[in-house]
Amino acid sequence: VKIARFSTGGDPRFGIVDGDELVVLRGDPMFAGFDTTDERVPLADAKLLAPVIPRSKVVAVGKNYVDHVAEFGGEVPEEPLLFLKPNTSVIGPGDTIVRPPQSRRVDFEGELAIVIGSIAKNVAAEDAAQVIFGYTIANDVTARDLQKKDGQWARAKGFDTFCPLGPVIETEYEVATGTVETRLNGTVAQAAPFTDMVHGIGAIVAHVTAAFTMLPGDVILTGTPAGVGAMVGGDVVEVTVSGIGTLSNPVR
Ligand code: MG
Repeated sequence: VKIARFSTGGDPRFGIVDGDELVVLRGDPMFAGFDTTDERVPLADAKLLAPVIPRSKVVAVGKNYVDHVAEFGGEVPEEPLLFLKPNTSVIGPGDTIVRPPQSRRVDFEGELAIVIGSIAKNVAAEDAAQVIFGYTIANDVTARDLQKKDGQWARAKGFDTFCPLGPVIETEYEVATGTVETRLNGTVAQAAPFTDMVHGIGAIVAHVTAAFTMLPGDVILTGTPAGVGAMVGGDVVEVTVSGIGTLSNPVR
């Protein structure tokens, strides 16, 4: 099912997407289960929010598509290359990506995002599904000039608004048949099947949880395919993952 976190003016609530309506849930389904109420809210009346606020961290995988590694030169890492984005970088669908004054080159990176559903440490690749709540869409926004200048990626990947997530979490997603496509002002910039990933979902979850304890609500970004590019003020960037939806954000 598709889970949305939304507001109709008051506190954030959760709902299951049913056609053009949301079936309102009692509490956060990650913790309270799928406890439905009788209330339905038209999607048109709901402001969708980031479907999850990562409890402790966003872990991201770099260089996980061969053709993306090729566009910058360099080697495909033998193991998943990990970096962190702070949870304060997360924004929701429709929210504005803000280019910081420190950077002259801010790029989009459309990605599939794993939403962790339980405390996870040292999870074997074949057991990954047991700790995954679902999948959503991410834009791993990157200050490309600062990524090169700083040598490490904390600032370049971690500015406020640099991790759009959403619009929904799909809890029954079949990654093997999925695709990602990123459009800048309607023009396709990135398009790839998830079978192009160097390291698959199981290997990523195993590698991440061998290093970090992941908490329910933490998120893992799985890497971006070729075609990343710069965004400027007035642009609109859309990331579509088949079977999940489209994450759209304006840029300022
Ligand atoms: Mg990335």
